[in-house]
Amino acid sequence: MTKIAMKTPLVEMDGDEMTRIIWKQIKDIVILPYVDLKTEYFDLGLENRDKTNDQVTIDSANRTKELGVAVKCATITPNAQRMTEYNLHQMWKSPNGTIRAMLDGTVFRCPILVKGIDPFVTTWKKPITIARHAYGDVYKNTEIRIDGPARAELVVTYPDGRKETETVFEYPCAGVLQGQYNTDKSITAFAQSCFKYALDVKQDLWFATKDTISKTYDHRFKDIFQEIYDSEYKEKFEQAGITYFYTLIDDAVARVMRSEGGFVWACKNYDGDVMSDMLASASGSLAMMTSVLVAPDGTCEYEAAHGTVTRHYYRHLKGEKTSTNPMATLFAWTGALRKRAQLDGLADLEDFADRLEKASIETIESGIITGDLNALLDKEDKKVVTTEEFLKAIAEKL
Ligand code: NAP
Ligand code: MG
Repeated sequence: MTKIAMKTPLVEMDGDEMTRIIWKQIKDIVILPYVDLKTEYFDLGLENRDKTNDQVTIDSANRTKELGVAVKCATITPNAQRMTEYNLHQMWKSPNGTIRAMLDGTVFRCPILVKGIDPFVTTWKKPITIARHAYGDVYKNTEIRIDGPARAELVVTYPDGRKETETVFEYPCAGVLQGQYNTDKSITAFAQSCFKYALDVKQDLWFATKDTISKTYDHRFKDIFQEIYDSEYKEKFEQAGITYFYTLIDDAVARVMRSEGGFVWACKNYDGDVMSDMLASASGSLAMMTSVLVAPDGTCEYEAAHGTVTRHYYRHLKGEKTSTNPMATLFAWTGALRKRAQLDGLADLEDFADRLEKASIETIESGIITGDLNALLDKEDKKVVTTEEFLKAIAEKL
């Protein structure tokens, strides 16, 4: 059999623990037999990050900016316990954080829907993708505990010495005070990523804030989205037959619950934090969730939404066969291959990505599953298999 050809390599970011094992199994069992795979390999495993003083993470992000598409394995974010376990020189920062900051990107998360694993919200027929703005707001706030009657003011000082002052509140008694910020630059990057992604997947884009109450702060988000939509995306959206829809956050939540799904929901930082956990648990598990980081210029990095599944890895080290779910990592690969195929005009490769996803969903629907899905899949004759057996069943279907 001739293998499917590639033009431009993917940036391949290897990772840690159980997901590193699964990474190799996915390549060996369902990709390499069919695709003449081209990647530029960066080892983001913790040992190599330590050895290179984390330069490998920076190099991989820079190369992603040049090539346009990356696929990333889950990686350990070190804490005190990992410092001892891996004898680290330094408590290295989260690779995801480093890469996100370098690409200035937004993360889009979307459940993988399978017949038999039904969302708790019965009206949802198609997946809902959440895009969370991961910059500023309450996550970078400044807080003061007020211990008695006081006046609180907001003071802004410009480089030329100009000052602007607003009274926040005349405290009659003790209380609390909070300051938040965001920037036009970050909101613009967020909006660009969202419009690009919605066009890419040809789905409507929803965005919501509380601009009726927050007339300057939240309103700025609304205005930036609308300005970018009107000037750059209106025509493209109309051509693609999709819409941009803005509403208030409470109205959005109510509409999401009544909807069929099948759209992209852009959320401010806090809304995205809360709503993505709701969406994930309402639709199954993190192992059935795709995740992609999209930069404002369209550069994409695909990954799984879960971590390195440490508990399974320790069992693997003891020689046990584990039944870890490879779906999210597999979909990171298919997402990256499909994106690469679209950029390079490779119909065969795009078709392969579609078929591999279809084969993996059908494998689960036929009742061959990993352990985590046992409690979720509503089917009588189901069989829990190891990760390797599961991937082999997918290859057979493929
Ligand atoms: P985790 O790796 O997501 O795993 C938490 C638990 O969720 C697992 O013990 C397992 O439950 C279940 N689970 C997650 N993925 C699964 C899968 N594919 N198949 C089956 N079950 C799955 O989170 P963690 O244990 O909190 O974190 C482990 C390491 O991952 C940490 O060092 C953290 O820094 C890192 N991390 C990396 C990323 C990333 O790179 N994107 C994200 C999050 C965490 P059971 O044990 O009950 O089976
Ligand atoms: Mg959260």
